[in-house]
Amino acid sequence: MAVKVLITDEVDESGVEMLRAAGFEVDYRPQIGRDELLRVIGQYHVLIVRSRTKVTRDVIERGERLAIIGRSGVGLDNIDLEAARARGIEVLNSPEALTNSTAELALGLMLAAARRIAYAHQQLSSGRWAKEESMGYELYGKTLGIVGFGRIGRRLAEIARCMGMNILAYDIVRPADEDLGRVGARLVSLEELFESSDFISIHVTLTPQTRGMIGEQLLRRAKRSAIIVNTSRGEVFDTAALIKALKSGWIAGAALDVYDKEPPDPSSELLALPNVVHTPHIGAQTYEAQRKSITMLVEKIINALRSKGLS
Ligand code: NAD
Repeated sequence: MAVKVLITDEVDESGVEMLRAAGFEVDYRPQIGRDELLRVIGQYHVLIVRSRTKVTRDVIERGERLAIIGRSGVGLDNIDLEAARARGIEVLNSPEALTNSTAELALGLMLAAARRIAYAHQQLSSGRWAKEESMGYELYGKTLGIVGFGRIGRRLAEIARCMGMNILAYDIVRPADEDLGRVGARLVSLEELFESSDFISIHVTLTPQTRGMIGEQLLRRAKRSAIIVNTSRGEVFDTAALIKALKSGWIAGAALDVYDKEPPDPSSELLALPNVVHTPHIGAQTYEAQRKSITMLVEKIINALRSKGLS
C-alpha cells in the first residue's frame, strides 16, 4: 500500500514533487478546514504542516495510521507533542533551513534602526526630504551582543564580523571554542553583554527560563545608545518594560520581528513609538528558506519512513 501524505499548509512545490518522486501519494490541501481535516486524517500516514494547521489532540487521535507529523520550519507550538508521543508518532521539523534567512533579517533590522531607513522612507513617501533628521550610526567597529549563540546567533556573528563588528556572546550552554574563535567572539555574562553592547540581538529559543528573560533590570543596564533587535520570540521580552525603556531613553531603539501577541493589537504602543522598526514575523519569509525548509523536512521524512520500514 502506498504511503499517503497530507499537506495542509502552503509549502514550496519542490517538496510536493520530491514526495511524489519518492512514490508517495500526496494530497496538497493548503486551505483545508478543521472539520474536513478531522474527517479525512484517518487515511494518512504522514501529515505535513507549517503554522496555520493546529495539530491538536483530536486530530492526532483520529489519525489512526499517522506515523509522522512534519512541521516545515521551526516551532512546534501548533502540535500537541504530548498526544503525538502517547501515540508513538514521530514529530520532525527543519529549523536549520531558516538560519541564514533569519540572521540576514536581523542584520537588515540592525541597519534599518541604525540608519533610520524606515523613518527616512516614510518621510520621503509623504513628500518630506528629512535629510538632517536622518543621521545614523555605522555598524563598523561597534560591539554586537548576541543572546543565544545557536544556529541563527552564530550565523549573524559571521555576517556581523564581515561588517567589522566586535562580537560578545551569551548562551546557557557553553558554545564550542571553535565557534567563538571563528568570529572572534568573547563569551560574557548576560549583564556584561547588556552593559557593553552597542547592538543587542536576541536569538534564544522560547522556554520557561527565557520567557520574560529581558525585563527592566537588564534594560536599565544597557547603553543609552543601544539598539536591540528581536527576531526570536516576542515573549522573551517583558513587553511593558521594553516600552518603558524605549520611552524613557534607557535604550535608543528597537527593531522587532516578533511580538508577544501576533499580530499585535493595531493600537499597541510598541507599534507607534518613533524609535521602533517593526516587521511582521518575516524572519523565514524568503524563497530560499521556504524551499529549504520543505525539502530538508521531506528528506528527513523519507529517511524516517525507511527506518520504520514504511517505504
Ligand atoms: P537554536 O536552538 O540553534 O539556538 C537557540 C540558542 O538559545 C541555543 O544555543 C540555546 O542554548 C540558547 N538558549 C536556550 N535557553 C537559553 C537561556 N535560558 N539562556 C541563554 N541561552 C539560551 O535555535 P535557532 O535556530 O538559532 O533559533 C533561535 C530562535 O529564533 C528560536 O526562538 C526560533 O523560534 C526563532 N526563529 C524566528 C524566526 C523568525 O521568523 N523571526 C525564524 C526562525 C527562528
